[in-house]
Amino acid sequence: VMDYKDKQWGGLRIVPFQNISMSPATSVLHYGQTIFEGLKAYRADNGDILLFRPLDHHKRLNKSAKRLCMPELDESAYLEGITELIKLDRAWIPNQPGCSLYLRPFMYASDEFIGVKPSSTYKFIVFTSPVAGYYKGTVKVIIETEYVRAAEGGTGFTKSGGNYAASLLPAKLAAEKGYQQIMWTDSKEHKYFEESGTMNLMFIIGDTLVTPPLSTSILAGITRDSILTLAKDWGVKVEERRVSVDEVVKAYENGTLKDAFGTGTAATITQISTINYKGTDLVLPGEETRELSNKLNKALNDIKLGKAEDKFGWIYR
Ligand code: PMP
Repeated sequence: VMDYKDKQWGGLRIVPFQNISMSPATSVLHYGQTIFEGLKAYRADNGDILLFRPLDHHKRLNKSAKRLCMPELDESAYLEGITELIKLDRAWIPNQPGCSLYLRPFMYASDEFIGVKPSSTYKFIVFTSPVAGYYKGTVKVIIETEYVRAAEGGTGFTKSGGNYAASLLPAKLAAEKGYQQIMWTDSKEHKYFEESGTMNLMFIIGDTLVTPPLSTSILAGITRDSILTLAKDWGVKVEERRVSVDEVVKAYENGTLKDAFGTGTAATITQISTINYKGTDLVLPGEETRELSNKLNKALNDIKLGKAEDKFGWIYR
């Protein structure tokens, strides 16, 4: 826990997991001035605890803070907090395939004030939980052409509560139809893919790995960056560019859509089995045929678990 008051952060401390008590007038409860991150610590076979790209999560937290008009956090205090926490929680980090310790850093506006204005006080808290994989196997997804998660110029590129609030209703409607995830499309024309609920989106069209470019309306996923870095390192043709729904449907029809998957901290790579577009299911090739995404998934997991060389400096011990 840390507190922001008098224009500075202070009071770094570790306390037992407990409830937060706050006034009903606390700013965050009304205006959504809250941001968060999600990162993981893994236990290597030799018992070492490995954090995956914690400094990149810190940078993204500060980007979110800036957009939400919140104070940035020092790298040193953030690192000290999470490394101390992990030392205390190391017994909770499972040594089982797919399992890890999830860390949830978050910051919220704590002023007791009813008007709409940035708070002058904030809390920063990190709590942890052991987790297994997020999805069991592949996911069925539905292309969203009515609701919008985020628009250009908004807060879509941040990890802030409101983005997720906007996604709950469409996700519920999709779940009622049997789909676990949404593929968001752009807010202007519903023509270009944006991202998924908890993942960035990637397609393999012909021999090229294609993914929507970063913008103000999608989250700059750290897994997205890791996968693109690995793929480029292996000499795979990678394109970060706008991908239209039309292009993907046509590629499906002419047999050049080889793969579609999501990337995220929770999911690493989760392959998409079925894409629903306006009531029609596009059924993708079987998981075992998707060589590249299977290989990328394994390579990234091996780095996270300390089983492969950390060529890009992603592991923090
Ligand atoms: N998009 C959204 C909306 C997300 O919530 C997440 C999960 N953090 C991602 C993409 C993937 O980001 P990352 O790889 O950094 O976990």
